[in-house]
Amino acid sequence: MLRPLAAALLVVALAACDPAGSAAVGSGEVPAPAASAAPSGLTDDAQTDEGEKPGDAEADDAGEAEPAGALEVAFLDVGQGDATLVRTDEATLLVDTGRHDRSDLPGLLDEREVTAIDVVAVTHPHADHLGQFATVLEGLDVDEVWFSPADHDTLTFERALDALEAADVAYAEPSAGEVYDVGDVVVEVLGPDAGADPGDLHDSGLVLRARAGAASVLFTGDVEEATERRLVDGPHAAWLDADLYQVGHHGSATSTSPELLAAVDPEVAVASYGLSNAYHHPHAEVVERLEAAGVALYGTGAHGTVTVRHDADGWSVATERDGEVRPGEQEDEQEDGDDA
Ligand SMILES: [Zn+2]
Ligand SMILES: [Zn+2]
Repeated sequence: MLRPLAAALLVVALAACDPAGSAAVGSGEVPAPAASAAPSGLTDDAQTDEGEKPGDAEADDAGEAEPAGALEVAFLDVGQGDATLVRTDEATLLVDTGRHDRSDLPGLLDEREVTAIDVVAVTHPHADHLGQFATVLEGLDVDEVWFSPADHDTLTFERALDALEAADVAYAEPSAGEVYDVGDVVVEVLGPDAGADPGDLHDSGLVLRARAGAASVLFTGDVEEATERRLVDGPHAAWLDADLYQVGHHGSATSTSPELLAAVDPEVAVASYGLSNAYHHPHAEVVERLEAAGVALYGTGAHGTVTVRHDADGWSVATERDGEVRPGEQEDEQEDGDDA
């Protein structure tokens, strides 16, 4: 099910972006991954399907720091929610699936010629992460699904479970310490860790670092400060180190604590949020903290879809439009409690 990356189409997609919104970031000075810390070769034996696994790469692929093909991470503009596409020559992963009250994700994937996905990982079942899961599963050729262990009592969750049951896909609930090979992408699992509260949707959320060649990206979902502290103090803290960081919890001040930021030490950070959202994301403390750390900060609310690419020339960022990440407006607009 591995499809080669359509390079020509990528060029088209990037060319559609305003050139003024593109900027080179860094020049290949990415830290070498901590190969020795990765128990390579561990496969996802929790899955229930006998179909061909996207993983199972040779063990010696894990941990190699040689410059492989490009890694492209597209933080899709899905409003106040998350949906991020990770692609290499050999693998396609989707981390989170947008909002329940929008239907934008299939079109955004279609624009990028995505018809097959090796892994759809949903960090936690809130409706701004799980929102269009069922539609994605029904409309695309998905090999494998990863969920966090938490249940949720919403229609969105029920519909997701129904779609999962009806689909012919492998299923896993990754947990800390596991390493998955997905084509040429190595995914290290930091959370949920042993201390996670399975009844807390954020605390028990998936925390994943994806690596391809020398490039790495960290997804912490909506985990908050207490969880971040456990990760920083935990046995897999070395896996937090990433060049590219999706700003936790849409830029909320509950997350991206100074300790976590120091451990991640990213060059580029992207926050996924909708402009003028009811939660005022991103919060001023987080924006200031990232800027003070010298991190190049982008946001889907300010820039539309943000596409970050790593190849032989280092990192580059292309945005759908020009903009600047500013803290959320402080006047209250509407309250919408469930799907934070
Ligand atoms: Zn969220
Ligand atoms: Zn959430």
